[in-house]
Amino acid sequence: MADRYDLVVIGAGPAGYTAAIRAAQLGLKVVCVDDWQTASGEPALGGTCLNAGCIPSKALLETSELFAHARDHGPTYGLKFKELLLDLTAMLAHKDKVVSELTRGIATLFQANGVTWISGRGKLLPKNIVEISGKIQQQIESEYVILASGSVPVGLKSAPFDGQRIVDSQGALEFKEVPPRLGVIGAGVIGLELGSVWHRLGAEVVLLEAQETFLSMADEQIAREALKQFNAQGLDIRLGARVLESKVENNSVTVRYQDKNGEHTEQVDKLIVAVGRRSNTAGLMADDSKLLLDEWGFVHVDEYCRTNLPKVYAVGDLVRGPMLAHKGMEEGVMVAERISGRETKVNYDVVPSVIYTHPEIAWVGKTEQALKAAGTTCRSGMFPFAANGRARAMGQAAGFIKVLADFHTDRVLGVHLIGPHCSELVAPAALAMSFGASNEDIMLTMFAHPTLSEALHEASLAVAGHAIHMAQPRKGTIKQ
Ligand code: FAD
Ligand code: NAD
Repeated sequence: MADRYDLVVIGAGPAGYTAAIRAAQLGLKVVCVDDWQTASGEPALGGTCLNAGCIPSKALLETSELFAHARDHGPTYGLKFKELLLDLTAMLAHKDKVVSELTRGIATLFQANGVTWISGRGKLLPKNIVEISGKIQQQIESEYVILASGSVPVGLKSAPFDGQRIVDSQGALEFKEVPPRLGVIGAGVIGLELGSVWHRLGAEVVLLEAQETFLSMADEQIAREALKQFNAQGLDIRLGARVLESKVENNSVTVRYQDKNGEHTEQVDKLIVAVGRRSNTAGLMADDSKLLLDEWGFVHVDEYCRTNLPKVYAVGDLVRGPMLAHKGMEEGVMVAERISGRETKVNYDVVPSVIYTHPEIAWVGKTEQALKAAGTTCRSGMFPFAANGRARAMGQAAGFIKVLADFHTDRVLGVHLIGPHCSELVAPAALAMSFGASNEDIMLTMFAHPTLSEALHEASLAVAGHAIHMAQPRKGTIKQ
């Protein structure tokens, strides 16, 4: 006879494990099925985010940034090294340690909250029965099901993964030596973050981006500044580049691509393909399942993450919206709470985005170009980190913060940041926006001195035309 639960969660990435924990906190009998295995075949919780995404990439970004900063700027601050050496093996070991500590942490949380964890593949059958295959073969009957099977990298016919020379983002976290010359297809979030890691460690990096526009999802002013900064660092970003073919021979990859000036070839030691990710629905439901997918292959859901099947929900990268861990976590919490009778909602208007390059790029809310396209009249205020004491003291004064507020209501509609620690600075902006703050609310808030967050305060003052620490305060520009 099948075991019976209140809730089965398929997938233990940030969306799934969060849903499982919250549902258990609310008294449901919960089982979470996940098929992730480490390189040595051990089951591990946390999905892409903990095992091969957010966490390992940030470990490498952090240590590579420390290394590059010490090497490139140490002497300016009076730090001289006889020799600064890179121990890549230790750097990778640190990353692996962080990952395994955090994934084991999720197992502890499951135990503490009474969530049952089964390592195996889950498949949704009719009547909310989940069939599990793997070391354990069993069927589970459940009142509710949450699908949280995440996403997988998109491949390219013109550059097929071989796991050695042509790799996806997971392979790019494992290079055993710094490739002298690294190619990256796709100058999106992954391309920029992982390209930066290896560039800081000494690789020459060339990024081939199909679009003519750089970082089209970001505010145009931010994207322009980012491109300027990355070019100055030596990242070779080629826009409008369409890859035609990649050939692996003699331990290198020859990439043939086309842009508006014709055809070109590039020889690289490793090639990362980072052209986006797609929802992971393979084997998730029976062949004759009535589960509805949308035109892009995401599981179709409404604003409460309800699928078209009764008491079946889907969350995280598997469904529409930005592929971000925190968006998935909020959806997981919402679904667990709604199943338990609460009226929780996700505020999809306030989803912060961060690109963990140097400088960091972050935003929340609408871009100026989106507001213009929608015909919304707004005021814009901008404040450069060059005029912020803390940023100057840190020797990281590049970039700025820009605040966009509705001309008529003064409500903050978007905050866009490029500069030091913007991944943290976007949080107060998101907090303000989730409370429906006006620009004046931020203006009237006191920020500690000397902090980077004062740049947010000053950008907000600049909207009203009276930033204090700018030689020529700019009147909040009216954009319509
Ligand atoms: P996933 O994390 O993909 O987890 C899904 C889980 O389900 C996996 O364990 C998978 O093995 C399992 N599974 C799949 N099918 C089945 C099945 N049939 N049965 C059982 N188990 C199954 N986002 C951020 O917000 N910040 C970042 O800094 C960031 N950095 C990233 C860096 C990289 C290199 C990558 C690749 C991604 C990054 N992301 C980041 C995106 C983030 O990892 C995803 O948005 C997030 O992991 C999605 O969570 P999820 O729970 O929906 O799916
Ligand atoms: P992405 O959508 O950010 O970037 C993919 C890039 O590849 C785009 O610029 C696209 O124009 C380009 N591209 C597509 N096809 C191409 C082709 N044939 N040739 C050349 N360029 C091509 O996707 P990604 O960088 O692969 O990341 C996947 C997802 O993971 C993203 O949605 C992102 O949200 C998430 N992620 C988030 C973070 C973070 O929050 N810091 C970090 C990494 C990944």
